[in-house]
Amino acid sequence: MHLISIDDLSAADIENLFSLSDGFLEIASRSIKKVPSLRGRTIINVFLEASTRTQSSFELAGKRLSADVINIKGSSSSVSKGESLKDTILTLESYRPDVLVMRHPQVGASRMATRYTSASVINAGDGTGEHPTQCLLDLYSLRRVYGRLDGLKVAIVGDVLRSRVARSDLFGFRKMGIDVRLVGPPTLMPPGIEYWDVPVYNDLDALEDVDVIYLLRMQLERAKGKVPPVPSLREYSRVWGLSQYRVKPGQRVMHPGPINRGVELSGDLADDERSLILHQVESGLAVRMAILLTAVAPAAEEATG
Ligand code: ASP
Repeated sequence: MHLISIDDLSAADIENLFSLSDGFLEIASRSIKKVPSLRGRTIINVFLEASTRTQSSFELAGKRLSADVINIKGSSSSVSKGESLKDTILTLESYRPDVLVMRHPQVGASRMATRYTSASVINAGDGTGEHPTQCLLDLYSLRRVYGRLDGLKVAIVGDVLRSRVARSDLFGFRKMGIDVRLVGPPTLMPPGIEYWDVPVYNDLDALEDVDVIYLLRMQLERAKGKVPPVPSLREYSRVWGLSQYRVKPGQRVMHPGPINRGVELSGDLADDERSLILHQVESGLAVRMAILLTAVAPAAEEATG
């Protein structure tokens, strides 16, 4: 089983992953956090673009399942010597891995990798393409907090243009019955957004009646062209940055990380009890354990049962 896009999964598949995640969350609260489910299996994490959360989460998830885990990282790999993605994957294939977790700056890289390996490929972020495991952990966090997903109202705010998280979250959230809207300046909305069939608002008033405000990082490292989509970060933060005072009492704030304190949200809001940012990281580990287990053994319930 590959996981390249959130659309590779049905709502029932997602619910199954969450049932498994519940078990792994419980295991994470024990003093010994390791289970033997993937003993003897090999997982290779290929991270050819910077990552803290996703890389560490996948590495720990594999280790807690007792798999042998290898990490290949961009600057220390032969990719920096000019090796092609195809040759990197073919080389790693010689180790007969069970799972290849891949992060790459180009859209479609994970799908391409499926051509050169018989391992299950998991997309851990491909350029501005998709980030399906982020969507799954976000959904799982919401389910833990609200006890349901159907009918929740979520606003995704900010740099939608360059956000793979926005893409995966929009499609995955809607699949689970969440009412999603996009909010941000028109210059940070992708061309063709009208075909996504999602309400788009260019005003923070659109946050008034939502349960959850999902903030995106301003991803300047992906900026293309000479004219920046916003005049300056300072200006962006003045108009679009959220502080504690702009978030209403019952509302929750999410962010995929890394956060830029003082840009999309104030430091106070990041540390506020309404922020689910670290809850998302905790959910991520349990969800990625469930994803790895399912990728190796689709009838995963048997393995944990
Ligand atoms: N960590 C997320 C990603 O890998 C979001 C971000 O970088 O802003 O896409």
